[in-house]
Amino acid sequence: MSEESCIFCKIARREIPSTPVFEDEAVFAFRDVNPVAPTHILVVPKVHVSRLSELSGDSVPLLGRLLHTVARIAEKENLKSYRVNLNDGREAGQSVFHLHVHLLGGRPFSWPPG
Ligand code: 5GP
Ligand code: ZN
Repeated sequence: MSEESCIFCKIARREIPSTPVFEDEAVFAFRDVNPVAPTHILVVPKVHVSRLSELSGDSVPLLGRLLHTVARIAEKENLKSYRVNLNDGREAGQSVFHLHVHLLGGRPFSWPPG
């Protein structure tokens, strides 16, 4: 999928509406349109990367930024405990091929995941 047609690129460029919760020069975070927990936020890089396994070594600092952002948002949302989820590939549940981290909170979570 190209950057032009990618839905999360469009959301990060604010070309299509979302409910943003955080933005800086590298990262955009917004509420999931179909939440599976009382708090369900997606944190994405502003650059188009299709999936974790496509990330080059040069982009390792970006992963740190994404996770650091998740932790900062969780604090702001007053989540004492939360689940961080990253799906890589269709069989793992990835449906949008722009790298994103799910922040899920506000209810208990079981392990192992389904
Ligand atoms: P995945 O299954 O790829 O890990 O997660 C994709 C997530 O993106 C899903 O939880 C889905 O609800 C969310 N999503 C898909 N399209 C949109 C959209 O247009 N806006 C928002 N806010 N979330 C979306
Ligand atoms: Zn994209």
